[in-house]
Amino acid sequence: MVDSSEPDAAFDPEAMRARYRLERDKRLRPDGNDQYVEVTGRFAHYLHDPYVEAAVERPPLDDEVDVVVVGGGFGGLQLGARLRDAGVEDLRLVEKGGDFGGTWYWNRYPGAQCDIESYIYLPLLEEVGYIPREKYSYAPEILEYSCRLGEHYRLYDGALFQTEVTGLAWEHEDSRWIVSTDRGDRLRARFVAMANGPLNRPKLPGIPGLGDFRGHSFHTSRWDYGYTGGGPDGNLDRLAEKRVALVGTGASAIQCVPFLGEAAERLYVFQRTPSSVDIRGNHPTDPDWVTGLEPGWQKRRMENFNGLVSGVPQAEDLVDDGWTDLIGKMISRFRSASDAGDVDIAEVMEFANFDKMNEIRSRVDGLVEDPEVAERLKPYYRMFCKRPTFNDDYLPTFNRPNVELVDTDGKGVERITERGLVVAGVEYEVDCIIYATGFEVGTAYERRAGYEVRGSRGQTLTQKWADGMSTLHGMQSRGFPNCFFLHISQAAFTANFPHLLDELSTHVSHVIGHALAEGFSMVEVAQEAEDAWVETIRSKASGAMGALGGPDCTPGYYNNEGRALEASAVQAAPYGGGSIEFFRILEQWRDDGGFAGLEFTS
Ligand code: NDP
Repeated sequence: MVDSSEPDAAFDPEAMRARYRLERDKRLRPDGNDQYVEVTGRFAHYLHDPYVEAAVERPPLDDEVDVVVVGGGFGGLQLGARLRDAGVEDLRLVEKGGDFGGTWYWNRYPGAQCDIESYIYLPLLEEVGYIPREKYSYAPEILEYSCRLGEHYRLYDGALFQTEVTGLAWEHEDSRWIVSTDRGDRLRARFVAMANGPLNRPKLPGIPGLGDFRGHSFHTSRWDYGYTGGGPDGNLDRLAEKRVALVGTGASAIQCVPFLGEAAERLYVFQRTPSSVDIRGNHPTDPDWVTGLEPGWQKRRMENFNGLVSGVPQAEDLVDDGWTDLIGKMISRFRSASDAGDVDIAEVMEFANFDKMNEIRSRVDGLVEDPEVAERLKPYYRMFCKRPTFNDDYLPTFNRPNVELVDTDGKGVERITERGLVVAGVEYEVDCIIYATGFEVGTAYERRAGYEVRGSRGQTLTQKWADGMSTLHGMQSRGFPNCFFLHISQAAFTANFPHLLDELSTHVSHVIGHALAEGFSMVEVAQEAEDAWVETIRSKASGAMGALGGPDCTPGYYNNEGRALEASAVQAAPYGGGSIEFFRILEQWRDDGGFAGLEFTS
């Protein structure tokens, strides 16, 4: 037995490592990402928007604007806001949902909540003059705030909702992008920006018999309140006489299970891998705290949080929550170990991780009455192999007599039949299956975007990126002039995604604002600048993978389902030096004023 240097954290690290390996190996599967089914064809109805009353009728448009932004989620909204700040008036957001909000438009399942602190997650709070109601906002408030952002920055002007982009093509003669949509629009734009979101395409598990079920079914990101009754606050009264199956136990499932358990006659939760479920501890916003806020507080708070979760010491912990506690503790272990000199830092960090996971596992024992059920709910993998979750009601739900955990021992649901789901040869008959099975990650960019982009040299983005993504700063790619991407790949990863979006939006609007102000018709990345950035990404790529799982982790979307990344995929990694360094690179680039690596044409 080894003492990990904390007072009561004695454990056998070798046994723990072996257990983690066992759990991982049990879950590795040869099909990796191919285990999931694309939501198209006979499954396309899972994408149907249940939140619009009816499709809005309008004639197709054939007109021109300065900038078309694809996507009306936080990416599109933040870019729209920054473009307005940069003086861009002629702007059009195109969004497939019925309103702004993106993730928060689609994910309306009961209990949906953001687990990043609202004061740093909701963008542009000071600019808009809004203070969230609670430390962790629920989805309806975030959706409401998205619409408020749209109003504040006049982004409803010209916006097209219930409209899906079907293609982007560069027209060389007059240097314009042609944006085609499923409404027959032909929009011409000088600039386009793609803010499609990282988790925008729901996926289904490729369980044999998926299409055979005769009962009702839907995905968590298209919650069918018509079937369940109630709303985002719960009271799912139409489930009172229904047997419900929930497939998946990721972040979405953790939040909706308490409401399903409360309402359904019988709830079966089908688990493949348990989540780590830490304390939530939400509370209403303290008005005295608000009174004391000084101008510039939100940016300082965002940077303080990003520093702490990136391992950069801060004088104080302004957010002081599960994320900063989790990572903060590991950093302080790291620092004391470094100060002590001759110690194995990797081992110290590993022990800190063991401690945290032991704490998470003890929490299960404290909240779940049946010891066997408790054991099955315990995650045996390193923290950050899977996305950590925070919830105070999920675990106690398994004490309810109407709720049953169906643990699949890492194998997943065996089969779906006309009547229900089969695990270990037992058929569970249900009236409804809810898929909490997440979103596509790691599939081709154009598949997730839902359309192809044809650039100035006749090449599509898929063709150009066939052997690996290639951009400057993740945002622009040679051969695709006046086109910008807002995403993590070749940019950066942050736990607080809107922080990244803000930095990218500021950058993109700086470039577009300059081109418009100076009357340039085209801005394109120079080949050498793009090559140099790709080389930077490649040379630093291993660090980035470490931040998100790692090859020895339990499989999941954080580590490409446990399979080694192909060289081309490694190239799509975020900048390995971390977000703080990346943001500094962008800021210095802008401050230099020379637009290094970009070619402007009049
Ligand atoms: P996830 O991808 O995180 O979870 C999918 C779940 O489905 C996993 O538990 C997975 O198991 C399970 N699953 C997949 N296939 C099968 C199968 N064949 N049989 C049984 N189970 C199966 O999706 P979520 O929607 O939960 O979350 C997606 C992401 O959205 C989160 O990771 C997070 O980034 C974000 N999110 C953020 C929230 C917030 O508070 N800010 C709230 C909700 C979501 P396995 O783990 O074994 O693969």
